[in-house]
Amino acid sequence: MTQDHGITRRRLIEVGGTAAAAGLVMSGAAALGPSRNPVATGQPLPDGLTLPTAPPRAHLPGSVGFAIIGLGDYALRQIMPRFAQSERAHITALVSGNPAKLRAVGEAYGVPPEARYSYDSFAEIAANPAVEAVYIVLPTGLHAAWAERAFAAGKHVMCEKPMALSSAECERMIAASQRANRKLMIAYRCHFEPYNRAAMELMRDRAVGDLRLIRTEHSYRMGPTTPPQNWRVSRALAGGGPLEDYGIYGLQAALYLSGELPDRISASAYRPANDPRFAEIYAHVATQWHFPSGAAAQIVTSYASAGLNMVEARGTGGALVMRPATNYGGLTLALETGRDRRDLTPGDSEVQFAGQLDHLASAIREGTAIITPGEMGLRDLRLIEAIYAAAQSGRTVILNADATIAG
Ligand code: NAD
Repeated sequence: MTQDHGITRRRLIEVGGTAAAAGLVMSGAAALGPSRNPVATGQPLPDGLTLPTAPPRAHLPGSVGFAIIGLGDYALRQIMPRFAQSERAHITALVSGNPAKLRAVGEAYGVPPEARYSYDSFAEIAANPAVEAVYIVLPTGLHAAWAERAFAAGKHVMCEKPMALSSAECERMIAASQRANRKLMIAYRCHFEPYNRAAMELMRDRAVGDLRLIRTEHSYRMGPTTPPQNWRVSRALAGGGPLEDYGIYGLQAALYLSGELPDRISASAYRPANDPRFAEIYAHVATQWHFPSGAAAQIVTSYASAGLNMVEARGTGGALVMRPATNYGGLTLALETGRDRRDLTPGDSEVQFAGQLDHLASAIREGTAIITPGEMGLRDLRLIEAIYAAAQSGRTVILNADATIAG
C-alpha cells in the first residue's frame, strides 16, 4: 500500500523467466482437481451463541447504516457485537438464507422485519436509504458476486478477507466499485489493531536494524470434516484452503512489516491422500520470498498441524516477536536487542473491530483514503496465485518491476 508502506513498484508475474505467467498462475487452485457442489446455505445459529438481550444503543448523528450479509460464526460472534463500540457505524439491515435465524438475530439487534432480506430479495435493499454500506461476511467464493450485487444496489462495501478466490474476481469487484462510485474496503482488521500497528511503526523506525528475515506461521488442526459439510474445505468456496483463509495474515504481516513486495517466490503445497478434509484443498502451504532489499520471508500455514499464530522480524540489530500475532486478542509483542527483551503493550486489541468500521464510515462521510482498499486485496490474491504457481511448477516465480502487483 503506497501511503502506508512505501510500495510503489509495479510488477509483472513471470514464471521462470517465461511470459506464460497468466495461464500458470490462474491454474493455482484449479490444479487441485474438480470441485464438488458448495455446501448448503441457511445453517442455524452457531453452536453456543448467545444473542444480545438488550437493544443496541441509539446511534450518533451521521453514523453509517450497514447491512450484514451472512449471519455465520464470524458475523455473529465477532463483528455484530462490536458495532456497539463504533462511533460511526450501526446495523440497519440483515441478509440471510435462514428465516428463523433472520428473525431471531433481527429481534436481538433491533432490525425491523422490513429490513431483513433473504438472498433472493436482496435487490430490494437498493430502495432502503438506511443502508449505506454492506458488510460481506460470506464464504470467500461468494464475495465477488455479492460485492457486485451490493454495488449494483448503490451501496458501499466492506468485504471480509480474503477478498475473493482469484485476481480476476478482485478486478471485477474493483471495476464494479468504480462504476457505482462507491467505496470498497477489505476487512484486514490487523491494520486497526494496536500491536500490529506498533509493529509496523517499529519496523518503519528500523527498530531491528536492517531487516533480514520475516517468519510467519498460521496453523491449526482442523477437525474431521468434508467439503459438503464445511465451506472451508470446498475448493469452490475456499480456493486452495489454509493460505487464503489463515495464512493470509502472515502474508499481510510480511508485507506490512517489510514495507516491500517480493521479487522472487518459491513455494511448496501439500495435500495428503485419503483424508476427506483435503479432498479439494491443500493441508499445508509454505512459501519463501526474496525481497529486493535482500531480506527474506518464510510464510507457513496449515490446517493440519499443532496450532501456532506467530510473526517474527529479524534484522541486524534485533528481533521483533509477536506470538500470538494476529488473533482477536491476547497478542504479545516483544523487541529483542542483544540480551534485552522489551515486552510492549501498545493497546487493547479489541479496538480493531470498531476501528475498521469507523474507518470505512469516515471514508464514506469525509472521503478519506481507505488504508485497506480493494487494490490491496487484489495485490494479495496476485501473490497467492504466484505462490501456487511456484508450488505447482517447482520453479521460482519472478516478479518483474514493471507490472501489476501494486496496492
Ligand atoms: P461461517 O460458515 O460461520 O458463516 C458463513 C455464513 O454464510 C453462514 O451464515 C452461512 O449460512 C452463509 N452462507 C451463504 N451461502 C453459503 C454457502 N453456499 N455455503 C456456506 N455458507 C453459506 O463462516 P465464517 O467463519 O463466519 O466466515 C465468513 C467470512 O468471514 C469468510 O470470508 C472468512 O474468511 C471471514 N472471516 C474473517 C475473520 C477475521 O478475523 N477477519 C475470521 C473468521 C472468518
